[in-house]
Amino acid sequence: MVVLLVALLAGVYFLKYNPWILLIPCFVFLFIEVSGASMLAANFHFISTCTGGTKEKKVALTFDDGPHGAETEKVLTVLKKHEASATFFCIGKKAEQDRELILKIDKAGHLIANHSYTHSFFFNLQNTKMLQEEIDKTNACIEGIIGKKPLFFRPPYGVATPALGRAIKNTNMSSIGWDIRPFDTSIQNPEKIVKKITNEIKPGSIILLHDRIRNSDKTVDLLLQFLSKNNYQVVSLDNLLNTPAYA
Ligand SMILES: [Zn+2]
Repeated sequence: MVVLLVALLAGVYFLKYNPWILLIPCFVFLFIEVSGASMLAANFHFISTCTGGTKEKKVALTFDDGPHGAETEKVLTVLKKHEASATFFCIGKKAEQDRELILKIDKAGHLIANHSYTHSFFFNLQNTKMLQEEIDKTNACIEGIIGKKPLFFRPPYGVATPALGRAIKNTNMSSIGWDIRPFDTSIQNPEKIVKKITNEIKPGSIILLHDRIRNSDKTVDLLLQFLSKNNYQVVSLDNLLNTPAYA
């Protein structure tokens, strides 16, 4: 990219090319950066695990942005009804405010994982040190409640930047993405959300949902009925990925 830019600069200077031509490599660079940074599955700045890579009919349910009071409680009730295990990517700040619920999730046999401390809108503008603090503070909070330190981290907004890559490496975390994202935060209709998931489901799928949505429990109930009818086993991430969830 730099070589191309220098060649075009030389062209503009010596061969009197139109200077606007310099914008081409800038746009190409910007496109690669933006698309690479926003897609975890592209593994552009760091590696994220987005499927279980198995032929067995096993899938993992993951919930982001909790714990979220009554909505999380309702999801836990439905999971218990179907005897399914899930993984909750929790926000440190919210975990600190509802320690009882974190303990309840853990006691029910589900995994607690790290989804940053603030989940701030400006999360990805922070430098490596600040991002490490987000991860460490959340891990310390969760460990203080359940006595286990998470190893799974999911980047807020699914955005991958070089600084976040360094922070994940320095804190020895594993980045976890997904291969099925039904956009439950914007669709909000359980039937439509489940339809989107069942259209794409395959062995090893990691499904991204949110336990802060009002009808999450209805979505999970419908989805678990479908999975059971179709002989899918719902397992927690450590089981699907065959790797420990806690240090
Ligand atoms: Zn999130």
